[in-house]
Amino acid sequence: MNKSPFSIQFLGAAKTVTGSKFFLRLGSLGLLVDCGIFQGYREIKKRNEDPLGILVSDIDYVLLTHGHLDHAGYLPKLVKDGFKGKILGTAPTLDLAEIILMDSGKIQEEEALRSNRFHPDGEQEEALYNVDDARHAIQQFSSIEEGEWVKISPDVSIRLQYIGHILGATSIEIDFQGKRMVFSGDIGRENDILLHPFKKPEKADILLLESTYGNRKHPQESGKEALKHVVLENTKKQGTLILPCFAVERAQTLMFLLWQLMKEKQIPPIKMILDSPMAANVLDLFKNHPKWHEIAQKDLQDMISHFTIIKKFKESLHMVESDEPKIILAGSGMLSGGRVLRYLQKYIGDPDATVGITGFQAIGTKGRRLVEGAQTLRIYGRDYPVKAKIVNFEMFSAHADQDDIMDWISEIKIQPAFTFLIHGEEESMLGFQAFLKEKKNWESHIPEHHEIVDLS
Ligand SMILES: [Zn+2]
Repeated sequence: MNKSPFSIQFLGAAKTVTGSKFFLRLGSLGLLVDCGIFQGYREIKKRNEDPLGILVSDIDYVLLTHGHLDHAGYLPKLVKDGFKGKILGTAPTLDLAEIILMDSGKIQEEEALRSNRFHPDGEQEEALYNVDDARHAIQQFSSIEEGEWVKISPDVSIRLQYIGHILGATSIEIDFQGKRMVFSGDIGRENDILLHPFKKPEKADILLLESTYGNRKHPQESGKEALKHVVLENTKKQGTLILPCFAVERAQTLMFLLWQLMKEKQIPPIKMILDSPMAANVLDLFKNHPKWHEIAQKDLQDMISHFTIIKKFKESLHMVESDEPKIILAGSGMLSGGRVLRYLQKYIGDPDATVGITGFQAIGTKGRRLVEGAQTLRIYGRDYPVKAKIVNFEMFSAHADQDDIMDWISEIKIQPAFTFLIHGEEESMLGFQAFLKEKKNWESHIPEHHEIVDLS
């Protein structure tokens, strides 16, 4: 008997949190769910250079859960390698992905240039992709409505469902041969500051569940209170408060809370700076997609007016040198690059300064080292003593914790035939696997990189 193929292959985010890519063979249709880049450790990043593991020509569509780099950042490479099909996602996801991919193209070019300068006689490295490749990928974007079933082939329908996490993010449901596949994407928080609550799947025969915080519960403490406390303490010292943050969402969340605190006179007036052109562009998306978040348009305008927004690099250097007390929001969130490094060069050795870490810090990043109590920090090849106060605002995660994940799957009454745990470090996945077994008596599988599972 000739069975029509029905399988999944894990091309990323298997026992790691980055590189999300899942290839589905659904009869004659090839679908890639997410197309993320690997980030973090050198060995992990090297996977971006490896062969994909499938033929690009076998992919008919790419579906995006959201615009983050670890879910969309490989698209320009895929297009460079010959992918000609449509890239589907919600309108805000595609707008965000455009900002992120253009920035990533520039970073890839710069990294290759820098590495070639270090090894002028060695083999010259080619950038994974460049700005032109990013531009080509963007031309293949095609948006679909959230919450509506869309038929993409005679026997495959898909639906994108609001998941919180970041602007535009969704889970993805796929119906094929009477089976429902549910890809969680990155699950948001139950009570997000800027976003609406997530929609829960009502059933799943095949479930892919992110488990970044699968073995943890976020602190109950309010982010606003914690931030207020740190700002007040820092004001007493007349110091500089540096909040390294992801340009997408975290920067806007922090802006919103700081603005609220100031408006409610819970903190004194202090100079507040957003030094991130990308975060400034993302603010525009909040203006353009009002249905996707909870900030009223007039509040958004007022919030923005309370910040000095720096776009030019020269102005950024100038601000680094300014000695007045201030609060700086700058990327990157894990201190792996970006403008925040210049501020750290100047302030990490200053006991009157405070650095507030505001999100998940992957193994191998400078942010992780700071959170783990490093005494020195290497920036641009030089070691700096860590004298500034380091605060870890764990409550600001954009990812569901154990309870949020359980809540998200609470309406699935029948155990899926397959539950795959993805997008987590191994320890957290094992923790969640045991938890899921204990609470719901569900079996789950933690796939290996490149593993193929027959779903028929
Ligand atoms: Zn994400």
